[in-house]
Amino acid sequence: MVSATEPLFDDLYRETLLEHYRSPRNRGRLEAPTHHAEGLNPVCGDEIRIDLRMDGDRIAEIAFDGQGCSISQSTASMMSVEILDRPVEHAMAVQQAFEAMLTAGAEPSAILGDLEALQGVSKFPVRIKCALLAWKVLAESLKSPNKEETHD
Ligand code: ZN
Repeated sequence: MVSATEPLFDDLYRETLLEHYRSPRNRGRLEAPTHHAEGLNPVCGDEIRIDLRMDGDRIAEIAFDGQGCSISQSTASMMSVEILDRPVEHAMAVQQAFEAMLTAGAEPSAILGDLEALQGVSKFPVRIKCALLAWKVLAESLKSPNKEETHD
């Protein structure tokens, strides 16, 4: 049985999503991030924190941490894979293609990599926020260079 609140995914996509959820890539914190942000999707209770180490305009290191539904956490994992060691410009292009797929019904672009697995979310408007949270936090982190040490 599939719960009524869980988007229906095709089996291959579902496998990809669950695989990232169970074995997230680039999960954790960076020792010396140059950028950091965190965000919340209160509708679903998803939380994402992102650390970046920028080298010029290249995303030299990324680590995310958080909790929440499989869509929010697996998107963060997939996103980190696609943008690691890439210029910000590339990350923005992936973000645009991802948003177009989810909100405008665009065909998945090749630059999405595993993120294509989230295509089914487009049919579930309330879950689109889950899939866009990591991107929102990424954009926020890029605008938030560490100017001084912060203490939790
Ligand atoms: Zn969620």
